[in-house]
Amino acid sequence: NVPPLYIITPTYKRAEQLAELTRFAHTLMLVPNVSWLVIEDAFEKSPLVAKLLDKTGLRYEHLTAPMPEEYKNKKSGPKPRGVSNRNKGIQWVRANAVDGVLYFADDDNTYDLELFHEIRYTKRVSMFPVGLVTKLGVSSPIVKNGIFSGFYDGWIAGRKFPVDMAGFAISVKFLLQRPNATMPYKPGYEEDGFLKSLTPFEPKEIELLASNCSKILVWHTQTKRNDPSTTLDLTKYGSTNIE
Ligand code: UDP
Ligand code: MN
Repeated sequence: NVPPLYIITPTYKRAEQLAELTRFAHTLMLVPNVSWLVIEDAFEKSPLVAKLLDKTGLRYEHLTAPMPEEYKNKKSGPKPRGVSNRNKGIQWVRANAVDGVLYFADDDNTYDLELFHEIRYTKRVSMFPVGLVTKLGVSSPIVKNGIFSGFYDGWIAGRKFPVDMAGFAISVKFLLQRPNATMPYKPGYEEDGFLKSLTPFEPKEIELLASNCSKILVWHTQTKRNDPSTTLDLTKYGSTNIE
């Protein structure tokens, strides 16, 4: 009887995928009343991901949302990673959810269980610190005497909301009242673009969680890439369970 949480997780095929999803699944298995929306940047669902999801016993949706070709084929510069997936998740929430809270949780981050308790009571948009972001080591709203007073982030870049994807949660009801809210295909500006699309909504309205943003409950961890020449030769191992 706690409000439902909708966790939107973009994912894509690479050697580390099942490890990341296994780790995150085992976190979510400890969270009550959660629906996990796992959305692959792929044309078809991976059978290995499907099997993993089934095994968890979690309530989940397994969807696909390939990155549009124009971005996928880009020769240089950053790509809008996870954007098609998250917009697909937003679409699913619009069609299927009536209340509760939505959170964008990448497959490779590290989440404290306390985070899910904190965000569950979000009325509009809540924010909290994210560890291991840029060389500053943390991205967070700045709170003075309990009041929002700006953003601390290593890359402000003219953003109205200079925050990390893992640093905010949104009420489903609030989202449903904003039918045009969407995430732009704009590398570096996905969070800012999405939060600005929630108009009317101003930084001073942010709900400050994690003890006035004094605690880190989520880390933007990044898994070291394995050497592809060793990982892709696993066929020699003779296993049918390894891609
Ligand atoms: N992702 C994706 N397609 C891609 C690259 C990434 O769906 O081509 C997903 C990835 O699984 C993750 C999210 O998008 O959940 C953000 O990607 P990543 O973790 O690589 O970004 P970073 O942490 O480096 O900003
Ligand atoms: Mn990541």
